Amino acid sequence: MECKRCVLDTTVSDIQFYEDGFCNYCTDYLTKRSIILKESNELKILLRTFKLINQKYNCIVGVSGGLDSSFLLYKTVELGLKPLAVHIDTGWNTEISFNNILAITTKLNVDLKIFTLDWDQFKELQIAYLKSGVIDIEFPTDHYYLSALYKVASDLNIKHIITGNNYVSEGIMPNCWIHNKGDAMNMLDIYKVFGSNTSLHKLPTLTLIKKFYYYNIKKIENIFLLNYLSYHRDEAKKILTKECNWKEYPIKHGESIFTRFYQRYILPKRFNIDIRKAHLSSLICNNQITKKEALKILETDIIDETLLKNDKDFILKKLELSQEDFDKMMASPINSHFNFKSEIKIKKIYNTLTKAFLFRHFLKISNRH
Ligand SMILES: [Zn+2]
Repeated sequence: MECKRCVLDTTVSDIQFYEDGFCNYCTDYLTKRSIILKESNELKILLRTFKLINQKYNCIVGVSGGLDSSFLLYKTVELGLKPLAVHIDTGWNTEISFNNILAITTKLNVDLKIFTLDWDQFKELQIAYLKSGVIDIEFPTDHYYLSALYKVASDLNIKHIITGNNYVSEGIMPNCWIHNKGDAMNMLDIYKVFGSNTSLHKLPTLTLIKKFYYYNIKKIENIFLLNYLSYHRDEAKKILTKECNWKEYPIKHGESIFTRFYQRYILPKRFNIDIRKAHLSSLICNNQITKKEALKILETDIIDETLLKNDKDFILKKLELSQEDFDKMMASPINSHFNFKSEIKIKKIYNTLTKAFLFRHFLKISNRH
């Protein structure tokens, strides 16, 4: 069964359909989006805040070379902000992505900082995820992307991080296809069970203590600026290509060899998931593509055998895995993230502690006056 509005169907294990034939994912999404649109006044307030900051950089913009983050950097400059572009190098950049980052920062005259993750430790973590059988093998990439941005912001005393996450191109994502990217406890437990003895101390893990420090003491905010702007992907592509010599990838998330291999090979082959259904559903709900066009795209094969053969050879070599190791990992039992420790389970306690801290902090301030 397929949703009447978007292209999600019963391959999403926790999908629900309402009487009108619409699914819970696009229905919830449209409700949330209407709330965000009402909050568009926030942009004016944010811009006023930025103008008061008298620093060389008043925000950090995470750049991957992809469309969302490249357009985001373009817009921050256009809005008169003073960004420092930060790229997190996980070791899987494609040549085109790095060229895009250089082209756009040069053209916009924005300083670029590259934060390189410790490859030996990151590699061990990725192998542990491949062995574990959990679905969100991209967790380490997404987690360290954000945690490294927080670290850079904290080190440079910058209070605002701007990331390319947005409702237009990635607002719909089934819960059963991913895991909460902030859940460092889950990641560390998966590593404890399936990882090697290598410590992960060189990676900037966003533990509960660090979260508390960044959010409540350093007061660093993560802003999803694209949600407040008129963001049309085709128009963004035109602007960036014309003005910044930016080049489009053949596929979404083509900036990382590992990500595209995960999305185009591991997810469909191992978990029977076509992630394009989520991306295309977001675009349908934003009138950037019709359902008919989306279905036509879904008829094309998700796996490009030649590209993926090259990617697979490259990945196995880089991770120092044999074909046999990899086949074993792909055949290991599927595992739930919730079979491991999780911060989500103790989130309530954390929220209570945070509130208690803020309350005490408030009392201290009140006592001074
Ligand atoms: Zn739907």
